[in-house]
Amino acid sequence: MAAEELLGEIKRVVVEETPFASVISDISFEGPRVVLCCKNLDLLMQNGEAIKELARKIRKRIVLRPDPSILSKPEEAEKEIRRLVPPEAGITSIIFSQVIGEVTIEAQKPGIAIGKGGALLREIMRRISWTPRIVRAPPIKSEIVQNIRLSIIQAGAGRRDILQKIGRRIHREQKAKGDWTRLTSLGGSREVGRSSFLLQTPESRIMLDCGVNVASEDRAFPHLEVPEVRLPELDAVILSHAHLDHCGFIPYLYKYGFEGPVYCTPATRDLAVLLQLDYVDIAEREDKLLPYNKKDIKTFLRHCIPLDYGDVTDISPDIRITFHNAGHILGSSIVHIHVGEGLYNLVYTGDMKFDKTRLFSPAVCMFPRVETLVMDSTYGGGGDIQPFRADAESEFIRIVNETLKQGGKVVVPAFAVGRAQEIMILLDDCRRKGIFDGFPVYLDGMIWEATAIHTAYPECLSQDLREQIFRMDQNPFLSDMFVRVKGPDQRAQVIEGEPAVIVSTAGMMAGGPVLEYFKELAPDPRNVLIFVGYQCEGSLGRRIQKGWREVPLRNEKGRVKNVKVNMEVRTVEGFSGHSDRAQLLNYVQRISPKPQRVVCCHGEESKCLDLASALHKLFRIETRVPRNLETIRLH
Ligand SMILES: [Zn+2]
Repeated sequence: MAAEELLGEIKRVVVEETPFASVISDISFEGPRVVLCCKNLDLLMQNGEAIKELARKIRKRIVLRPDPSILSKPEEAEKEIRRLVPPEAGITSIIFSQVIGEVTIEAQKPGIAIGKGGALLREIMRRISWTPRIVRAPPIKSEIVQNIRLSIIQAGAGRRDILQKIGRRIHREQKAKGDWTRLTSLGGSREVGRSSFLLQTPESRIMLDCGVNVASEDRAFPHLEVPEVRLPELDAVILSHAHLDHCGFIPYLYKYGFEGPVYCTPATRDLAVLLQLDYVDIAEREDKLLPYNKKDIKTFLRHCIPLDYGDVTDISPDIRITFHNAGHILGSSIVHIHVGEGLYNLVYTGDMKFDKTRLFSPAVCMFPRVETLVMDSTYGGGGDIQPFRADAESEFIRIVNETLKQGGKVVVPAFAVGRAQEIMILLDDCRRKGIFDGFPVYLDGMIWEATAIHTAYPECLSQDLREQIFRMDQNPFLSDMFVRVKGPDQRAQVIEGEPAVIVSTAGMMAGGPVLEYFKELAPDPRNVLIFVGYQCEGSLGRRIQKGWREVPLRNEKGRVKNVKVNMEVRTVEGFSGHSDRAQLLNYVQRISPKPQRVVCCHGEESKCLDLASALHKLFRIETRVPRNLETIRLH
């Protein structure tokens, strides 16, 4: 059935089977959702059950929208909102979007603005005839969250047109015949970096992730040159999480003809934009030519359709997806892909952690159906056993305490997203328990902004952490122990100052402020450098980790100077956001239902092969380790 016919069918159901047909002025698709435009919101509000029933019947998510003719004046509506919402909700901004009749209310305590069971929300809607959307004001002010929210609201009519076009495409008539599904690796197979897959059916083409390898010159980007990648014909990109090796090349797609949506969680969208902007900034600073610019990042943002965990969503006539928690970083997802009507099911883990961390619950392993599992193999080698988290934590704290007692400083190179926040929560917890004295912890590089985004999406965090934030009102990210380093002057003060912990980017010391600290603090044997994350072969971090005692570094004038490494260099394993070998095996053991086939990717060649052979021996299932550009016919 074509989009128009499908709309006609939905209209028929509304007219014949609901009590509110008389107030509906228009029905349209916006992306995967059905928008009901109506002239009497009040009446619709009273028919909550009938709307739910309709959504079930047409198997679509429904968005209610006021007909432009009934909108009250924004000034009056704003007054009414401020009168209705109790001051404890802490409203920080109210922005009206005329095109879609929506008012975005940002509040410090969104729960209060929504009211019990959504009662206040409905009351606001009834009084002002705008659809209110309540969003959380991050307790740490985040420029990026603010700019993203604002730019989506300002995109108004342009974004609506984009979504309508995408909506018609999703609901097009299924023309192609046949029942095969194939998966082609475009990058990130038998390697780490530039992850990308193309999933094809006779009807649809979907891309899973589209990353870059920041540490490589000649293998930096995925293979988009193959004939089956035809960007204008691509239905959608599904983004598993915000790390650049999964999202770094997405803006490029828009520059070369892609006009479809990117599906990801709201947190992934914000973090992805943050990391992409930083990627472009660094390239500009280093005079490197990138194949896209900030304008293309904005285009990506306009085409992004955020989906929450658990939302079942049609993305093409024969493909339906659902995101589930992956336990890796904020917003990271395992993607369940359902092809056809019960024809085939694929689970793509992206990067995942099958263990409890301080930040997240373990990756989800229960699905309605799964025939092929495509899995993260980063630590799939036989020897990749990480120590217990608790042991890693006490080792880390012991080194930190000893160093500070001796009057030294601790430098921790960390990725802005993930490890940095894990270390912050650990330090905060230890201080509460009296194991760590209240020395200042300086955060430099993008860590502050990334942490702010964490505070905007507490619903993604682990149960324990949510409880600590909401029930006990102890948000570890807001601890006064953490100090943001704002520029070179303050950095110099930190270097000159008292004993302290410095957590700074880049995680593999490939650049960023961590190098400034390293240059000045490396010669003093009282100081210590602690690695807590993966150090890629060839990176400066890996060299220092291996024991280089003299490191050539460029100063501001571009001259190379040798830096003597007298500081202690330590590596504490066990903080990883990836599953280790035991957790990977455990995941395949536990996943339900049992898949018929496992595809190992995202790992060095030997690790993928090693994991695949272990899985085959242990579970007697077919395993595959494709090379880049190899295609697997799934059925
Ligand atoms: Zn990742």
